[in-house]
Amino acid sequence: MTEPLHTLESAYDIEDEYRPEPEPIPLPPAWLDGSLRIGIHTSIAGDIAESLNTARKLGCNALQIFSASPRMWGSGATTRIAEVNSNRFRALRLELGLGPVVIHDNYLINLAASHPVLKVRSIQTLHNELVRAVQLGADFLVVHPGSRGEMSVEQAIDAIAQSIRQASRGLKLGGLRILIENTSGMGTAIGWNFEEVAKLLDRLDNLPMGVCLDTAHLFHAGYDISSEEGLERTLERIEQTIGLERVYVLHMNDSKTPLGSRVDRHEHIGKGKIGLEAFRRILTHPLLSATGPHGLPGRAFILETPIEAPGDDRRNVRALWELTGIPVDQAPDAEDGFSMLRSARAIKAAERETRPRAKVKTAAKRKMKVTPHKGKKTKTNRSAKRKA
Ligand SMILES: [Zn+2]
Ligand SMILES: [Zn+2]
Repeated sequence: MTEPLHTLESAYDIEDEYRPEPEPIPLPPAWLDGSLRIGIHTSIAGDIAESLNTARKLGCNALQIFSASPRMWGSGATTRIAEVNSNRFRALRLELGLGPVVIHDNYLINLAASHPVLKVRSIQTLHNELVRAVQLGADFLVVHPGSRGEMSVEQAIDAIAQSIRQASRGLKLGGLRILIENTSGMGTAIGWNFEEVAKLLDRLDNLPMGVCLDTAHLFHAGYDISSEEGLERTLERIEQTIGLERVYVLHMNDSKTPLGSRVDRHEHIGKGKIGLEAFRRILTHPLLSATGPHGLPGRAFILETPIEAPGDDRRNVRALWELTGIPVDQAPDAEDGFSMLRSARAIKAAERETRPRAKVKTAAKRKMKVTPHKGKKTKTNRSAKRKA
């Protein structure tokens, strides 16, 4: 009786089935070699690929950038990066061995906005952020959750999740991961506590999501990471809510304002209320190491410290490397005397030299008017004068 069944079974040969070529298993990015990754938010002024050289000259092996102006709504030409520039960025990044490349999103985006125009604009702008991040081969896009305004926390978390889903619809993200950054809790900002961040992640489990923890924001929100005991308690809370394996980037900023201030002011490493020893503990903590507790690699420490004097950027990078305890000759070399502040001045000076004199005057005049309001006013005044 078993005979017919056997025939039936053998009639179907699995080998006859058409099978497409198996997708090649993607190789992990070169920077995921278990080594410690330290970077700083780097200027893209003038040339986006040049930001990579800048990071290198500052002694970094990782970096964060904006992929467009962070205080302007992207439109038209700024939506995408010219292919020649994104190709150059990818090639130079490989050549310099930098990673991860972290992109920070536009400051104007509010994913919890209730006003329909602002909401649509925010979703569109985040979509453009994702497109550019993929173009550049970035590893992470850091996103601020948003401010809830009159909404309840629950409503806002739902709205943010929906906005992120809409913004990423139809996109192939490849190796890109979206990281939610914890906030200081200024105003009605969502995501100042781990519970809110965890809830948001849970609503987006079909997307490649993760978390970026900002040390200053943690402190402003009331998590006392300045003491050894406080750091332990905070890490415990993270494990119970977000899970440390979902934390991919740490923003390393000291704080100008005290614990629980809810006021976001960054300070140089070791010069603020968090203090040097706290940063040493963070950088050397076994649960926060580059390879991570679960064998998951890919954590990076990125500075967003102020640059008030030339060299502040280089000195903060240096400070982090020194705190890791890695011997100086094993940390990446920095270029003596290099600073983003100095190079920004050099770019301006070069522009001044190459531009015709009359144009320099107007450019300088325009630059003095920082606020859009004043700019508009002057324009109208000028055109009014011309008409008159
Ligand atoms: Zn941020
Ligand atoms: Zn930050």
